[in-house]
Amino acid sequence: MSDYPALSQSTLQRLQDCPRLFQVEALELSGRWFQHDLRQRLEWGRRFHRLMQQQALGIPIDQLQTGDRSLDQCLADFAAAQPQLFALPPASWHRQTECRWQWPFQDFVLVAIFDRLELSDRAAQIHDWKTHNRPQTLETLTATWQTQLYCWLVTERSGLPPEAVSMHYWFVRSQPQQPVTIHWNQQQHQQTQQQLEKSLQEFKGWLQAYPETSLPQRPDRLQRCQTCEERDRCWPNPDLTLAIASWDEIPVVEL
Ligand code: SF4
Repeated sequence: MSDYPALSQSTLQRLQDCPRLFQVEALELSGRWFQHDLRQRLEWGRRFHRLMQQQALGIPIDQLQTGDRSLDQCLADFAAAQPQLFALPPASWHRQTECRWQWPFQDFVLVAIFDRLELSDRAAQIHDWKTHNRPQTLETLTATWQTQLYCWLVTERSGLPPEAVSMHYWFVRSQPQQPVTIHWNQQQHQQTQQQLEKSLQEFKGWLQAYPETSLPQRPDRLQRCQTCEERDRCWPNPDLTLAIASWDEIPVVEL
């Protein structure tokens, strides 16, 4: 059993964005990061995911009425726009919903929870339901740890070539309800493996040195710092506020 924590894509993303914030949330306020991660899923999103899971188990969507008009309408629109997602998969495909995969890697356990995973002996498709109102670009999504970890993990565990793996992000509250699709490839796979090895080595070093040495701040992340609860502790110098030229530079906090 590993002494190091299980790492999800959101933890890897947090470590990349700011290791010091991970320290505060996960190491100092034990467990808060994971609870916070769960809390970030809005209730609407949780219910949508549950409905998609129930539908995949064979419950017709007209029996899944929740009384929440926006939720029911969104599900109905999604079923009308993308009926193949609501039909049974072909016999040669195996469908899993809300499934958790774990994979030991370099003293850690990597964890992925797939909204939907469809596998055949020739290909794998990862589907992710996004329930916020801000669709992201292909470039942004490709760079996230969610894409990299999920595609890398499925490739490693399935034994399929990277080119057989794809990831589909569905921004279900946006019109048209079309996916942003990322086709995985050998180069991305190798780069992700190298980045994972580097990031986990780095993280292991930080954990070994902690608490004598704090995890590093991200000095290149000043914009992020402006909306961070820890900014007074990290940056007691009031000059930090001068680094922001305009309130428009402050990023929207994802909920
Ligand atoms: S204030 Fe900035 S450096 Fe400090 S924890 Fe927050 S994001 Fe990280």
